[in-house]
Amino acid sequence: MGKPPFPPSNTLNAPPSWRCIDFISDLHLHEDLPLTTAALAHYLRDTSADAVFILGDLFEAWVGDDMRHQPYEQACARMLRDFGQRRYLGIMVGNRDFLLGSDMLTDCAAHVLPDPTVLSAWGQRALLIHGDELCLADTDYLRFRSQVRQPAWQAAFLAAPLQARLAQARQMRAASQAHQQTQAQTAWADVDEAAATEWMRAAGVDCLIHGHTHRPKSESFGPEGGIRHVLSDWDLDHGQHARAEVLRWQAHGFERMALS
Ligand code: MN
Repeated sequence: MGKPPFPPSNTLNAPPSWRCIDFISDLHLHEDLPLTTAALAHYLRDTSADAVFILGDLFEAWVGDDMRHQPYEQACARMLRDFGQRRYLGIMVGNRDFLLGSDMLTDCAAHVLPDPTVLSAWGQRALLIHGDELCLADTDYLRFRSQVRQPAWQAAFLAAPLQARLAQARQMRAASQAHQQTQAQTAWADVDEAAATEWMRAAGVDCLIHGHTHRPKSESFGPEGGIRHVLSDWDLDHGQHARAEVLRWQAHGFERMALS
């Protein structure tokens, strides 16, 4: 697959009153992950950030906004709304929860963040993406992605009864886990640096923030002088692999904060 062109980007200007912006992603919330879910609730209750940006894969799976009435998802919406009613909450969809829609975002008192979004704060600019679209080596996934992002595919999928969609999501999750196991024997796909460089130049930024790859780090990347911050996934339910991290942006720079 070729490099995708830089799509029209949404620019968000941080209000002058903001002092602190937090970024998180890839929580993969699921009712089988009570510790991860509780960690998000505690974080949202206690953070001093003026804004929290969730850059995709908040949920492990999302099969349509009618899912928001299920007990677990309803509790998640309440927890997010408690924050969204007090501060700015922005949510970008990822490859797992790309069907998150305006009904659920409204329940969460959240703003939609298009992928990509350019965020301008304190005279600096950062490009925010989930990251899956630029993992160009993962050609099987990109074929799947181009199919499921089509309105006709989504309309046909959403026309099925909720229970049938939930069953299909369980199958897709199993297939995805099998795919990840075969991938793990070689190398995980990463964001393609040449394609990301073009996007960063087009957006006029030297800073890229993304999740998706589950390889948290901050490093030189892209155009000369460029940097990327790769967000951590969250998993506090599997003992020895426990991790959860927040990327915090303030006028003086970025900081990674471990919650685990
Ligand atoms: Mn992802």
